[in-house]
Amino acid sequence: MYHALNWIAIERFDTGEAVTSAMQRVRATRELDFSSMPADLSGWYRSHSEKINTAVAEIRAVADKPMPDIRAVLARRRSFGALAGARKHGYAVELNAALPTIIHFTFNNLLRLPAFMSAIGNAASETPEPRGGRRIPLSLPSRLKIEEAIRLITTTSRPEDDARAQMAVLLTELATAFCAYHEVAHVVLGHVDANARLSASLTFVEVVALQDMPLGKIASTRRVWEFEADLVAINMLLQDMLSPKAEEAFEPAYGPENDHSPLARIQAMLGAALIVFLLIAQVVPPQLTHPDPLVRFIAVADETAAALLQHHSGVGLTDEEVHDAINDVAAAILDGWARLEVPTTHPSLLSSLRRARAGVERLQLQRRALSNVYRSHAYFYPFE
Ligand SMILES: [Zn+2]
Repeated sequence: MYHALNWIAIERFDTGEAVTSAMQRVRATRELDFSSMPADLSGWYRSHSEKINTAVAEIRAVADKPMPDIRAVLARRRSFGALAGARKHGYAVELNAALPTIIHFTFNNLLRLPAFMSAIGNAASETPEPRGGRRIPLSLPSRLKIEEAIRLITTTSRPEDDARAQMAVLLTELATAFCAYHEVAHVVLGHVDANARLSASLTFVEVVALQDMPLGKIASTRRVWEFEADLVAINMLLQDMLSPKAEEAFEPAYGPENDHSPLARIQAMLGAALIVFLLIAQVVPPQLTHPDPLVRFIAVADETAAALLQHHSGVGLTDEEVHDAINDVAAAILDGWARLEVPTTHPSLLSSLRRARAGVERLQLQRRALSNVYRSHAYFYPFE
């Protein structure tokens, strides 16, 4: 899975005495109850957990050395979030149950816009939900049982057309996989352990409360960690997109008449990641923990282009084809996002996109300056 990057194995980090005893106090998380969910929904929520386990097994195979156990959990939490934490025997990667649900709701709403992916299914049959400038809700309603909220939110927002509804599921799976891989990356890159040393917290929480936001040097280290985790996660997802299994998953969703070639799949992957970045930017004030959403997008898009051109020349894509595809997907997602009338801090997302590359360059410099502070905690560290 990882051969796109030049992975370098780093000696295993041994957690200290204090960390181990504190770990034992971490409360067990309540997981999503699949038994009460309808089969079509529970099927992919379940397969999502399996996917994390497969990713961990593949990391272990590629690293060819002892790796920690990383347990995948879909936690019964109502807020949009995720975490990676040290546990008694290894680590846990937890996605809050609200995360895939809110992503699914977002893609359902996008696919209900006739202009969004207009070649898929019968786009003209769709009627967008009048949103009136409201934000995408970022937590599940408190009055409903979580499993019931998932069922209701995903079924009531569903596009009219079956093909478009199926596309929303596919894009949700890509976005959710990206989030899971991003959390796995925080573990293998040593961020969870380094964070335990720096902040005495065993849990690396993705979306933290405003009063707990890191400041100064810790904040800039945190942004570098987010940057690194994104780069690793996109490489993991890129491997999935280039595998023969992806062909099988994409063909029915795109329909026989539409392009579902590797380039189309890569566009779907980058579009899914951009939606995650835009959603997170609604929860996290820009620049505090996660880089600006467009900076994150340019970072993963450039990483994808470099990996394709340098390590996957067999796919047969030219520099121009890859860059045009990246520009097209950014324009399509930002246009859809604007049509959803989600309030945003950016006056013009597209013009900000052009300036975002400078933000990526700053992160690269910070990574070089800060990496000696934390890279000794990494199980493997693919950056120079
Ligand atoms: Zn993160």
